[in-house]
Amino acid sequence: MIEGRIYNFSAGPSILPEEVLLKAQAELLNCEGSGMSVLEMSHRSKVFDDIIKAAEANMRKIMNIPDNYKVLFLQGGASGVFASLPMNLGNKNKVADYIVSGNFSGGALKEAKKYLDAREIATTKDVNFTRIPRQDELKLSPDADYVHVCWNNTIFGTKYQYIPDTGDVPLVADMSSSILSEPVDVTKFGMIYAGVQKNLAPAGMAIVIVREDLIGNAMQITPKIWDYKIMADKESMLNTPPCFPIYFVKLVTDYLMEQGGLAEMKRRNEEKAKILYDYLDSQDFFKAAAAKEDRSIMNVTFRTGDEALDAEFVKGQAARGFSNLKGHRLVGGMRASIYNAMPKEGVIALVEYMKEFAAEHQK
Ligand SMILES: *Cc1c(COP(=O)(O)O)cnc(C)c1O
Repeated sequence: MIEGRIYNFSAGPSILPEEVLLKAQAELLNCEGSGMSVLEMSHRSKVFDDIIKAAEANMRKIMNIPDNYKVLFLQGGASGVFASLPMNLGNKNKVADYIVSGNFSGGALKEAKKYLDAREIATTKDVNFTRIPRQDELKLSPDADYVHVCWNNTIFGTKYQYIPDTGDVPLVADMSSSILSEPVDVTKFGMIYAGVQKNLAPAGMAIVIVREDLIGNAMQITPKIWDYKIMADKESMLNTPPCFPIYFVKLVTDYLMEQGGLAEMKRRNEEKAKILYDYLDSQDFFKAAAAKEDRSIMNVTFRTGDEALDAEFVKGQAARGFSNLKGHRLVGGMRASIYNAMPKEGVIALVEYMKEFAAEHQK
């Protein structure tokens, strides 16, 4: 780690690879010999055109995205997609199924209800979203235009361990907090999207990966900038795109490919998560918040069971060189977000702190 930096466990915007930050720093004043910063250049310039094309090509390569899928860079983050998805994919029967496994999937459902008959077809709200609904709990609508899921529940620390079988109905997944953390079979999804600020780039953009045959039938009311077909035809440049996040997508994917791609990310992420979960399972001072079978490898939630002790644990983080360990208010306790860029050493150091804290406070 570079002198002065700390282990940042933020859920988002979150840690980025130091190698990438250094590269961006080195190029900040003069990008690709253009004599100007990527922050200053026309999005119609040759230099930027090469950047956005490379960002898309890299995404296709690293995620193995088939040719019949479009890759879009859209403003508005994941929340922009909550709104634009029903307008774009829900204009056939105007019915959509939503599986509610946490706060963001609930937010997506609420937004969709403005535009169509959006149905909550399963939820684990009754257990405060500590687990993912199972296949046999899904009350799928035969006439749904799509089924929406949130793949990794950033706040609650759960993740799908199976791909829901939705028959012929396209599956749409919000992968904001797990994109590029491990390989996914894109062909199993009609659409995958992610706000980039969790595992990929600075805030200000969503990536949408959508099957070609699902677009081109947007509702009349759809703003042009959120019409996936128009944006696909314009290669995400109907208007000025979020240039800096796009540039980071290129740098981060370059870096991840150098590091061995998504299979290697999965190996590292599972290794890191295992260090934390193995410790959580080995003692009873801290309790893991999520059900064992649905645990996320990106966001690890835990608590002591005593709010005052949780607060003390969080308060002690700065002295250890950590930040952002406080859990979301909907869960309480602590949350360690351990995205791709979090080194294994950060997780080991966190477990050391947990051990010492437990020894000090165990009754
Ligand atoms: C952070 C997050 C969002 C919200 O993203 P915005 O870009 O802020 O709209 C949505 N879904 C998931 C899973 C997230 O982690």
